[in-house]
Amino acid sequence: MTEITTRQRDVLFQPPEVRPLVDGFQRRISYLRLSVTDRCDLRCSYCMPEQMTFLPRKEVLSLEELHQLALGFIARGVTKLRITGGEPLVRRDIGDLFTALGRELGRGLEELTLTTNATQLAKHADSLAKAGVRRVNISLDTLDPVRFEELSRRNRLPQVLDGIAAAKEAGLKVKLNTVALKDINEHEIADLVSWAHGQGHDVTLIEVMPLGEVDGDRIDHYLPLTDVRAKLERHWGLTDIDHSTGGPARYVDVAETGGRLGFITPLTGNFCSGCNRLRVTATGQLYPCLGGGERVDLRAALRSDQPEANLEAALNEAMRIKPERHHFDISEAGQAPHLPRHMSMTGG
Ligand code: SAM
Ligand code: SF4
Repeated sequence: MTEITTRQRDVLFQPPEVRPLVDGFQRRISYLRLSVTDRCDLRCSYCMPEQMTFLPRKEVLSLEELHQLALGFIARGVTKLRITGGEPLVRRDIGDLFTALGRELGRGLEELTLTTNATQLAKHADSLAKAGVRRVNISLDTLDPVRFEELSRRNRLPQVLDGIAAAKEAGLKVKLNTVALKDINEHEIADLVSWAHGQGHDVTLIEVMPLGEVDGDRIDHYLPLTDVRAKLERHWGLTDIDHSTGGPARYVDVAETGGRLGFITPLTGNFCSGCNRLRVTATGQLYPCLGGGERVDLRAALRSDQPEANLEAALNEAMRIKPERHHFDISEAGQAPHLPRHMSMTGG
């Protein structure tokens, strides 16, 4: 990756004072989720079909462009940056991007983090920590190797567990994300949470969302977290707490495990009023809402002859069109998804 010099950066993204991103509903945007690839080494059945068609590589932003884009957002007051995908760690030379972005920590950027399936985390954990990453979100839906292979269509649970252990070893704070799936992992959720809390990891449960075509019908496996919580409360004492990681999760303390459990409920509980985030795909398409079709083309801005001015205008446009709330409806999942985009495209 060719490094952007300080001078180039100053030319591209001046002036130095922050011009905050504030949308039409007076929400201050400080969090960017930046997808670096739509590719993945797993095929989680709720996320993508087995025969997923990936983007031609030339459509995907280069590492230099991703870096420039991130700097543009930091110049507009984004303080938290999450690298995601697809699977971010399958992207070649991704370590270089983390190293480059890590240099922005303390210079506007307050947190650099990632969401990963952890299959390749064992080999990256140390360098991520060295780049300044302190926390990592890891997706784990089951601890059963057979179920893992059925769900992700790949036999990789041992690598994932190695990745989680390596992250802990490297001093990274791990949070596990678990999609709650009826008839798949619903009976294992308490065990998974107990295991994670025993390892010192927080867990957040997520409702499956109707994003993109998959092979089956998602509605068959949709499990409202209100039901999950009610079941857990038969055996556990759950106390609502104020803890926030700046996202949509609502947290409880679990008396029996001593750990923290989050619930992300896009379907049963709308969380849009406090939204502080934007998402950019690996092709540079900015989606101001995960659950909306609104879009701004940042790649065109970046590749124009006036990248600074055009990026500025594109970000202002994103603020203008960011909708007040998403309109997911699980009843439209499966055969007729509410939105054609897969989560692996928009970046989870
Ligand atoms: N590959 C990485 C991973 O799995 O952590 C990062 C990208 S993945 C798209 C990000 C998150 O989105 C994962 O936690 C995954 O479980 C979640 N996800 C994918 N499709 C989803 C869907 N339709 N509904 C809810 N969560 C979904
Ligand atoms: Fe890959 Fe993450 Fe989607 Fe699973 S959820 S297929 S790991 S992008």
